Amino acid sequence: MTAPLPTKIARLEDPAAAPGSIEILWSDGVRGVYSPRLLRDACPCATCREQRAAPSKPTLLQVLRPEEIVPLAIGGMQPVGQYAYSIEFSDGHSSGIYTLEYLRELA
Ligand SMILES: [Zn+2]
Repeated sequence: MTAPLPTKIARLEDPAAAPGSIEILWSDGVRGVYSPRLLRDACPCATCREQRAAPSKPTLLQVLRPEEIVPLAIGGMQPVGQYAYSIEFSDGHSSGIYTLEYLRELA
């Protein structure tokens, strides 16, 4: 069995979707829609995985971080080898390598 491959990766022009979402069409007919927030929150780099694993500290005053004020966007996607993409986000983060398998799981 061969794993499904993307046949099309494009920015989604759908007013119903989150702004800046991308669409991936897979070779087996599945269509995945990915919002910038979904991909950013699923960033597989070591730093983000550690942050997600750490228990969140309760704070009396919730202060928005600068990156939460500006709407998150996908700056670009670069192929890494044949089976992964690195995604650059508008908050400057770009160290996550998203394998096709992982992107497919998120679909
Ligand atoms: Zn990350």
